Amino acid sequence: MIQLIRGVKDILPGDAGLWQYIEREASSLFENFGFKNIRIPIMERTELFSRSIGEQTDIVEKEMYTFEDRGGDMITLRPEATASIVRSYIQHRMYAADPVQKLYTIGPMFRRERPQKGRYRQFYQIDAEVFGVASPLMDSQIIFMLMTLFSRLKVSDCSVRLNSLGCPECRTAFKSALSAFLESRSVSLCEDCQRRRDRNPLRVLDCKAPACRQAMEGAPAIGDFLCADCRGHFDAVMQNLARLDIPFETDKNLVRGLDYYTRTAFEIQTTLLGAQSAVAGGGRYDGLVKMLGGPDTPAIGFAIGMDRLSEIVAAHFGDFSRKPRMFIAALGSACQALAFEWVNRLNSEGIYAEMDMADRSLKSQMKQADRQGAARVVIFGDTEMAAKQVLVRDMATHEQTTVPLESFTEYVTKM
Ligand code: AMP
Repeated sequence: MIQLIRGVKDILPGDAGLWQYIEREASSLFENFGFKNIRIPIMERTELFSRSIGEQTDIVEKEMYTFEDRGGDMITLRPEATASIVRSYIQHRMYAADPVQKLYTIGPMFRRERPQKGRYRQFYQIDAEVFGVASPLMDSQIIFMLMTLFSRLKVSDCSVRLNSLGCPECRTAFKSALSAFLESRSVSLCEDCQRRRDRNPLRVLDCKAPACRQAMEGAPAIGDFLCADCRGHFDAVMQNLARLDIPFETDKNLVRGLDYYTRTAFEIQTTLLGAQSAVAGGGRYDGLVKMLGGPDTPAIGFAIGMDRLSEIVAAHFGDFSRKPRMFIAALGSACQALAFEWVNRLNSEGIYAEMDMADRSLKSQMKQADRQGAARVVIFGDTEMAAKQVLVRDMATHEQTTVPLESFTEYVTKM
């Protein structure tokens, strides 16, 4: 038997119902906040990701699924959605109609990480991006929107971690202070961080290795290097969050793994997930649209990890699979023919009804109805046909009622 490849999974019907529910809640909430759905391709030119995410990030260095296609183009399965949405914003000149665009998308992303619980090689994100708004009001608004979604989904135990990564000017000063500090601690860093030290020093700040945690005590904090504008922006984000009653914690080590972030960076964490505690992350990326060839446009966005979110939400919600409102147990070809008409009519009118299509006995049809979780069984055989009625059995109370054939459809619509 051919099995799944490592790090990917099937989302089986029982779970998929919950996924659809989460997707519906997210879409409807985001649309209330003015977001519009966009669908972007799963494959892009490799260059799009290496330029935007950064050549020296973990994603680009070792996690992308990249291949040369038959025409010789270098193609990558998207590791995240932001770069593609930015490309689309620029390519279709969306800014010409209105620089302010709020977009969201839901779909699979691909990163060749070490698989473990909560970490997959094909995983799913709900992603939202806002273009053309520089104001810190927007930073707070999208965090508010995110927390509103989590609260609707009854994910109570989550907290916002917040930092500012400054702009290229303040970050340059910070990076050189950090590099000098790392030089002094070099021998104590883990193997990965030895490598990151020169290429992506910021990343050392959020390394989870105990040795690095210890070595990084007393490291310079970006907060001390923010220019007046970045400081003002960050303070305003915090004030607005307080105004919206969103609790948060600042975390000077929150740097995120991608190069394009500027100013606000945030993560939503929960204790319900064990080691993989981040359920969503995002931030501002004011330089990316220009860097990829578009007009100078501020932007901010976030991505929610669907796999992790659905795991938490599953704990609060029961079975999402739809159960038939009725199962029509027809016996004999004449009754079956009529039942066939009814079932199709009911299904097309929005009522989920089932029937047997294999000429089974009443007993096995009753079993089948029970297995499918039908609320009622409509028994319809020669006796009922002769009496011009059907017998309706409530599967929970075992109560039986007879309903005249001529008023059966009326009975069903009233039900
Ligand atoms: P990122 O795009 O890395 O900022 O990730 C945003 C969110 O996506 C994270 O907070 C996770 O919830 C989720 N995520 C990222 N990578 C994975 C993965 N390999 N498997 C499952 N979820 C992931």
